[in-house]
Amino acid sequence: MIYLDHNATTTIRPQVIDLVTKIMNETGNGSSTHAAGRHASMHIERAREQMAKAVNTRPAQVIFTSCATESMNTILKTFKGQRILASAIEHAAILDCGHAELEIIPVTADGIIDLNAMEGMLKNAPTALVNVMMVNNETGVIQPVREAIDLAHKYNALIHIDAVQALGKTHVDFADLDADYMSFSAHKIGGPQGVGCFVFKAQKPIRPLLTGGKQEKRQRAGTSNIAGIAGMGLAAELAVNNIDTYQKSSQWRDQIEEKITGTHPDIIINGQSQNRVANCMSITCPTITNTVQIMNLDLNNICVSAGSACSSGVAKPSHALTAMGLNDDDALSTIRVSMGWNTTKDDVDNFIENYIAMINRLRK
Ligand code: PLP
Repeated sequence: MIYLDHNATTTIRPQVIDLVTKIMNETGNGSSTHAAGRHASMHIERAREQMAKAVNTRPAQVIFTSCATESMNTILKTFKGQRILASAIEHAAILDCGHAELEIIPVTADGIIDLNAMEGMLKNAPTALVNVMMVNNETGVIQPVREAIDLAHKYNALIHIDAVQALGKTHVDFADLDADYMSFSAHKIGGPQGVGCFVFKAQKPIRPLLTGGKQEKRQRAGTSNIAGIAGMGLAAELAVNNIDTYQKSSQWRDQIEEKITGTHPDIIINGQSQNRVANCMSITCPTITNTVQIMNLDLNNICVSAGSACSSGVAKPSHALTAMGLNDDDALSTIRVSMGWNTTKDDVDNFIENYIAMINRLRK
């Protein structure tokens, strides 16, 4: 199988599997005071240190959760009833988190947050929280988060950065950026599914989503997923240590884009002119729906994704692509191809050959 859907979930690194398996063979609740409990708690605290080091913050500022969606729900719900802004290309974890007061900041045709529009909105009325992602999960476009953070602070708003697709692909430095909150997910960085975290600046408010226990410094109640958390800590360390190898996949990305647009010049690569992370691309092939493209690739054992949600059996165009100005037909003819730490040159060559053959066949 050729798996090119690493932005959905990436392969767990073997060292992480070893560690998680070892810990799953141990017994102990991190909240217990006996030796087994203390041992379990040691795994969590080591992971907190690894995570803190990976993103340059202090361990006390890291709170583990069950996923980035939970992290983002916690942060947004902290500001319930207050004005919240979010870019139009944020993940559903932000946009669909049920916050009635959410106001949308537009993006440019290249998929970059419109900072002028953001400033206009901030000038208009007091804002509690702004949400901007560091890297878009569909286009891979790197957002001007430093400028967005400075702007939010200029107008006394706090800012949350969704760094889920950034860690391990580009440099993430919480302290240097001076963000107030940042969210991460283990399964996007070579760790297990079902574990995430957020980091927050000291003294900034958190209203826990889950209450009823003193775990995670009383910011997230519930028995800790010790093996998962340990896996996330190690995955974060490995992701940051291997950032160079990830960045090398830009050669393969450029090769894919050149070959397919060279054969079919009407194919569009969304956000291509912008600074993007190396591993991913958003490909619009007008007139061929992504459902048809994905099915045909799947028949050849190639996994890519649509970047659009399917609700009640009807494919819906991606909100991120329509926010960039694509019409519904083009958005529904777009696939996302994303490489991972274990993608090989053979995978890339096979994808190019199969993709071009498929489009030639379907356009006959
Ligand atoms: N934010 C971005 C940019 C994502 O790509 C994802 C996952 O697709 C999430 C948030 C949600 O992460 P999780 O699966 O840990 O809830």
